[in-house]
Amino acid sequence: MKYLDGFRNPDAARRLQAEIAAVAARLPPRRRPLHVMEVCGSHTMAIARYGLRDLLPPGIELISGPGCPVCVTDAGYIDAAVELARRGLTIATFGDMLNVPGSAASLADVRAAGARIEVCYSPLAALDLACRQPDREVVFLAIGFETTVAPVVSLIAAARRDGIRNLSLLVAFKLIPPALRALAADPEIHVAAFLCPAHVSAIIGADAYQPFVRDFRVPCVIAGFEPLDILLGVKGILEQLAAGEARVENQYSRVVRPGGNPLAQAVIARHLEPADASWRGLGVIPASGLKLRPQAAEFDAEQRHGLRITPGTPDRRCRCGDVLKGKRRPPDCPLFGNACTPEHPVGPCMVSSEGSCAASYKYSQDRP
Ligand code: SF4
Repeated sequence: MKYLDGFRNPDAARRLQAEIAAVAARLPPRRRPLHVMEVCGSHTMAIARYGLRDLLPPGIELISGPGCPVCVTDAGYIDAAVELARRGLTIATFGDMLNVPGSAASLADVRAAGARIEVCYSPLAALDLACRQPDREVVFLAIGFETTVAPVVSLIAAARRDGIRNLSLLVAFKLIPPALRALAADPEIHVAAFLCPAHVSAIIGADAYQPFVRDFRVPCVIAGFEPLDILLGVKGILEQLAAGEARVENQYSRVVRPGGNPLAQAVIARHLEPADASWRGLGVIPASGLKLRPQAAEFDAEQRHGLRITPGTPDRRCRCGDVLKGKRRPPDCPLFGNACTPEHPVGPCMVSSEGSCAASYKYSQDRP
């Protein structure tokens, strides 16, 4: 706790606030308003929770990007999981996925109608489930960014070791660096710099952003989750912009190494290969996902159960797509806090504990 106190120290935060204002004053006026995008749901939550936006000088804005893994999962993926549940298979999932609306129904809806949906707190719980129900097929919903991939695909080796044959994965993993490229290349999105995710960076390493920074000349600063981590990250970004630089800076070096976590990377490479992936709001981004290699085909739920994930049709009123691209703030959605609340979410950004709309609803003054 003492350790965390250091990263939440109000006096240090005030000093950093003053330093940020001083650096911001050196920025050329044409750079305002300046959008810094955080691409991490945990950053989004921390920024809202600690009111960090209010500590920034006028014209410097933190906007949320596609950093919540549940939120970027396409409605068509939920449709596929619902279809499998309706066929009588057991669906094992992290809890956040339960209330995400698909095109017509959520997993919570089909569970209420009698389908077997089991909430897991770790991927290993799915293995246990398959072991305890040898006569039932269990499908684990394998979504998430680089952070969660290795523990999930470790299920494959564990299932082989234990001779478990009734477990498969419905895979929709996503990769962050290709998403940064898609955002930077979109002429409608104006991001001056990225506050890069902490957990993802711990896996892929700080060097993984070098090609992006070289190609797009956009500063990338990796920051931890504590308020002072985030403020330090913002200060680092503004210093780069004031100096006319674009570099990868690792403010979270107590966890993130230049080369990341080679053990996790090896597990990922053993079982998965890059694939195009469909992101809610961002569409299909080349090589931004992972699919199981042919040698793990028996664990691929799509192949095993003769099903294909196809694009879904989310509620037309929902603005999650724009929120995930940083084009709208959650309160700009007409449904925010009215038709859409955490109790009755219309879109995934209000469902997930890392969603921008949920963060805004929980912590901001904008709530109706
Ligand atoms: S408030 Fe609800 S409907 Fe609107 S963008 Fe957010 S999640 Fe979607």
